[in-house]
Amino acid sequence: METAKALLASGKVQIYRAGVWKPRTRPSGFEGKGKEALEWLLNVKNQTGLLTAVEVGNPQHVELALKYQVDVLWIGARTTVNPFMVSEIAQAIKGTGIAVMIKNPVNPDLNLWMGAIERIHQAGIRRLAAIHRGFYFFRKTPWRNAPMWEIPIELKRICPRLPIIVDPSHICGKTSLIPDISQKALDLEMDGLMIEVHIHPNEALTDKEQQLTPQQFDDLINQLVIRATSPKSNDETLERLRLEVDKLDQEMLEILSRRMAMIDEIGHYKNQHHITILQIKRWRQMLADRLESGSQLGLDKDFLQQLLQLVHDESIRRQQIILNPHHDNTKED
Ligand code: PEP
Ligand code: MN
Repeated sequence: METAKALLASGKVQIYRAGVWKPRTRPSGFEGKGKEALEWLLNVKNQTGLLTAVEVGNPQHVELALKYQVDVLWIGARTTVNPFMVSEIAQAIKGTGIAVMIKNPVNPDLNLWMGAIERIHQAGIRRLAAIHRGFYFFRKTPWRNAPMWEIPIELKRICPRLPIIVDPSHICGKTSLIPDISQKALDLEMDGLMIEVHIHPNEALTDKEQQLTPQQFDDLINQLVIRATSPKSNDETLERLRLEVDKLDQEMLEILSRRMAMIDEIGHYKNQHHITILQIKRWRQMLADRLESGSQLGLDKDFLQQLLQLVHDESIRRQQIILNPHHDNTKED
């Protein structure tokens, strides 16, 4: 209640989210207070006027949440991975018209995320949002869950009307990274933020490293810059610069196409003279050489390496078709 009142005072919060059932990776973690906490949540709603949101992991949770007048349900990352459970939840909310938010699955799998969204949509739910909470990797990353912005951006490209809420708390895992990720979310045209706040983070029963105090939350919100999502229609400078980019992209495509034609010619030559497609020595030299010239041109090395790799893979694929036209040349998925 104290946290809710502090958030209300910030004037920036519309929905109060609270985990009542916590899906824990290991059985020893704090698993939430369950039904008892739904009463606290209802009190928050009645006393502050904030809308409430809880995570639901099965149909019984849905039933109880609805009974306690929860306004928004969300499906957690560990549930989104399980199509059986998502279907059961979809069945339970069918016809209720409640708002539902769907977190991305733990692993970076856009189809699995979209599958869960579709299942809820098929249950007639139209007030839908996706939540980007980052992706777990076995290898250590600077984040608790790596943001991999290309995945939510691709979701936005495919479903332009679906709002995406970003959850910097679970992406970052520690408070120091939260401002940066929150600003990035806004600059990437994401539609909202879901941030964990606790009056005494040290006493939090879960995720204490990532909870902001209400004061830190206030400071964060005040320092975020909200930029125009679309430029003024008569912004001539931006228009001119974009035209330049369009021209450069066209040139880049033409050059790529000429390069691929050259690759095909080499492929035919190799075919006639029984030379292998890949000569590792040449590839190593090429890569080193391009990385060197690219860095002199101010291009980032990792970016360039990925780009060259992609172009090289495609060149190999084309030559493979020329040398072995009857083989299975299906692309790797
Ligand atoms: C949560 O939102 O508190 C939570 C458990 O998150 P996730 O499902 O993203 O791990
Ligand atoms: Mn949490």
